[in-house]
Amino acid sequence: MQHFPIFLDLAGRRVVVSGGGEAAVAKLRLILKTEARITVLAPSPVPQIVRWAAEGRLRLVTRSAGPGDALCAALFYAANEDDAEDARVAAVARADGALVNIVDNLQDSQFITPAIVDRDPVTVAIGTEGAAPVLARAIKRDLEERLPAGLGVLARIGKAFRGLAEALPMGRPRRDFWADYYFDTGPKALDQGTEAVRPALDALLQQHLTRPQRAGHVAFVGAGPGDPELLTLKARRALDTADVVIHDRLVAPEILELARREAELIDAGKEGFGPSMAQGDIDALLVDKARAGAQVVRLKSGDPTVFGRLDEEIEACRAAGVAWSVVPGITAASAAVAGIGQSLTRRGRNSDIRLLTGHDMQGFADHDWAALARPGAVAAIYMGKRAARFVQGRLLMHGAAPDTPVTVVENASRPEQRVLSTPLSRLEPTLSQAGLSGPALILYGLAPRAAEATLTQIAPQEIAL
Ligand code: SAH
Repeated sequence: MQHFPIFLDLAGRRVVVSGGGEAAVAKLRLILKTEARITVLAPSPVPQIVRWAAEGRLRLVTRSAGPGDALCAALFYAANEDDAEDARVAAVARADGALVNIVDNLQDSQFITPAIVDRDPVTVAIGTEGAAPVLARAIKRDLEERLPAGLGVLARIGKAFRGLAEALPMGRPRRDFWADYYFDTGPKALDQGTEAVRPALDALLQQHLTRPQRAGHVAFVGAGPGDPELLTLKARRALDTADVVIHDRLVAPEILELARREAELIDAGKEGFGPSMAQGDIDALLVDKARAGAQVVRLKSGDPTVFGRLDEEIEACRAAGVAWSVVPGITAASAAVAGIGQSLTRRGRNSDIRLLTGHDMQGFADHDWAALARPGAVAAIYMGKRAARFVQGRLLMHGAAPDTPVTVVENASRPEQRVLSTPLSRLEPTLSQAGLSGPALILYGLAPRAAEATLTQIAPQEIAL
């Protein structure tokens, strides 16, 4: 983020615009919405600017900007539509200590004006760091359609009511009240006319003051393999309303971004062999937070029911009498096969699929190797990076064909997804040599569809899909 978004209080502050053409008019239309004291410097301004000056909405000086014109100004716009003149006045204004924007010149500007959706006092600012103005306009159009015109009215009435709403306890009770107002009671009342809003607010407050407190709850939510678009709608909703989110380290940052701004985010940090919060501590934390009345989201990568130690945490909730629910997610195996264009099962090849872990609490995990060594067997091996040599050795020892295809999918569903395809006999050293750093799933018995034709080829390959 090169440009940091802030909302600047311009009431009573000086804003200076150099230029008297259409570019200056476009900026002035925006700045005139504020309570800034505006000065325009232009030798020959267009009539619109002259009219605004006559109405007393800005001060017009009919000459070019010079040293001292931007003294004490908060912002300075160079809008002369002339590169040389803009560069000259910008230098002068910078020397005066003002923040300078040169219209249509991102590189030499110290700040930029975002695309704005105006539902005063609700203002949405959209910036793309100048990279995609078309995108900013499309988002603006989308928001203009989505945000009801009455939103500003509701926000103004709501603002005047803030003091009264303080009768509700801080935190969730107050938030629930405002959510009801903005998304349900408010818009409905506004349909009857502006006068209907205030009585509706009074009634809503009474209703919230007298209703019993909501009990705490733990939702065990699957965050999927990483791509935020692979979250379920239920997971999105749970994140939207969570008071506390306790997540594993594998949960992608883009997904944590979706949690409610005020939510407390706790990293329980369970990943492979890395340092982690002890399971008992996590169990206790879940129970404590829920008992305090919080809506807790226990966010686990993939599906919480797959190698997620879900049962221990459910058991802790059950024993403490805390209400809980499970929201399934897309497990890494599903994302990994999708990434290589294969199915987990296929008629005539494998009518079962095993989900294995490479290691368990005791170390490398033992499995029914003889069954896995049969032709056509397919397995998805989780947490298998370090166990790969062990798995490879066991399978070969039990008679698996050395050219059985194995595909390793690192960072499945994420932009940095990588696919390694190798015969079983070369799984190691291929895997170690690749130096994978992200989570990886080993698909035993499957080759990427794109590489199936070259299955018998012994040299391992990295496949870009
Ligand atoms: N509950 C999770 C699995 C947790 S165990 C799920 O259903 O997916 C952690 C293991 O999952 C990792 O060691 C890795 O093998 C696998 N994994 C998780 N996310 C992955 C991803 N995006 N790509 C590849 N493997 C992943």
